[in-house]
Amino acid sequence: MRCAHATQVMSDELDGASTAEDRLAARLHEAVCPGCRRVRVQLQGIDRWLRNATVKPPEPGGLSEDARRRIRRLLRDQQATSDKPEG
Ligand SMILES: [Zn+2]
Repeated sequence: MRCAHATQVMSDELDGASTAEDRLAARLHEAVCPGCRRVRVQLQGIDRWLRNATVKPPEPGGLSEDARRRIRRLLRDQQATSDKPEG
């Protein structure tokens, strides 16, 4: 196995897309290749960082119940005053 293939397998492994055969071959390659051992450590570090950095994007209209209540009250108050008969 070449380094390029070994690192590809490592990356696939993190994505859950590698075969057991590939993983074993990559492990055997790492045993004799310090460069690829370093790559694995880096890949795992990036993978962990990405998982932690994944933040749920704010949803439109994602207001808290309290905020929605306040807005409803404001709208109701406005309607109530504008509904008053003039004069
Ligand atoms: Zn290698």
